[in-house]
Amino acid sequence: MLDFYYQIKAQSTEHGRFSNWAFPPLFSGKVTAENKKAAKLLIEEEYGRKFPLRVLEKDLANEHYLLNIQEIKDDDERTKGLFELRECMQCGQQFRTIDLYNDHNEIYKGREYCGHRCRELHRLENIGDQGEGWGRKSRPMIYQITNIATGLSYIGKTTQVFTLRWYQHFYQGGSCKFHQAIKTSKAEDWEFRILETAVAPEGIDKNQYLLDRERYWIEKLNTIENGYNSL
Ligand SMILES: [Zn+2]
Repeated sequence: MLDFYYQIKAQSTEHGRFSNWAFPPLFSGKVTAENKKAAKLLIEEEYGRKFPLRVLEKDLANEHYLLNIQEIKDDDERTKGLFELRECMQCGQQFRTIDLYNDHNEIYKGREYCGHRCRELHRLENIGDQGEGWGRKSRPMIYQITNIATGLSYIGKTTQVFTLRWYQHFYQGGSCKFHQAIKTSKAEDWEFRILETAVAPEGIDKNQYLLDRERYWIEKLNTIENGYNSL
C-alpha cells in the first residue's frame, strides 16, 4: 500500500493571479491505497462526487474544483511533515500543519506554532531577544523608582519585562508605603531606572543572586529608612 497526498483546489476568485487555483487548497489530506487510481476512488467516495485531475482552459466555467494526487515518497520529509504531530513553540499544545492548511480562518500555515496567535505572542515576547541587549526577554533586573518630588525611592527586582513590573506597581498596588505614596501622587512625579541587570554567575542560584543584589542596593541607597522599601 502507498500513501497519497491530495489537494482539492478551488478556483481562485481573485483576478490577475498566476494560477486559476487558489492556495491554500480547499482541503488537503492523505489516503492509503494500492495505486493512484484507487486513491482517487477513495477520495471521491469520501466526498460523494467526482473530481477532475486536469481542467482545460475552455472547461474552467464548468469545473470549479481540481483534484491533485501525488504519491508520498519515502524521502519526502516535507510532505510527511505536514501530517506529523508537533509541539507549538509558544503554548506547547500539539498540532499538525495539515490542520492549519485546512482551517480557512487560520492565516498561519507553518510548522512551529499551533496558529497565528501563538506566533504573534512569541514574536512579542521575544522582541530584543537577539544578542546581549538590555531588552532581552526575562533578564533579571534591579530597578529604582524615584519620586522626584520627594526624592525618595523604591528598589525592586523583576524577571519579567521591566515595564510590566512598572505597570503592576501603578495599577495593582497594595497597602505598603510605596503603594500608598503612588496613590497620593501624580504619575509625572515618578522616574524609573534600571540599576543593574542581575544575571547570576555560573553555578550560583539565580533567585538567590537576585535577592542578594536587591538587598545590596536597598542597603546602599538606604531605601528602607529613607525611601519606600519595607522590610
Ligand atoms: Zn500554540
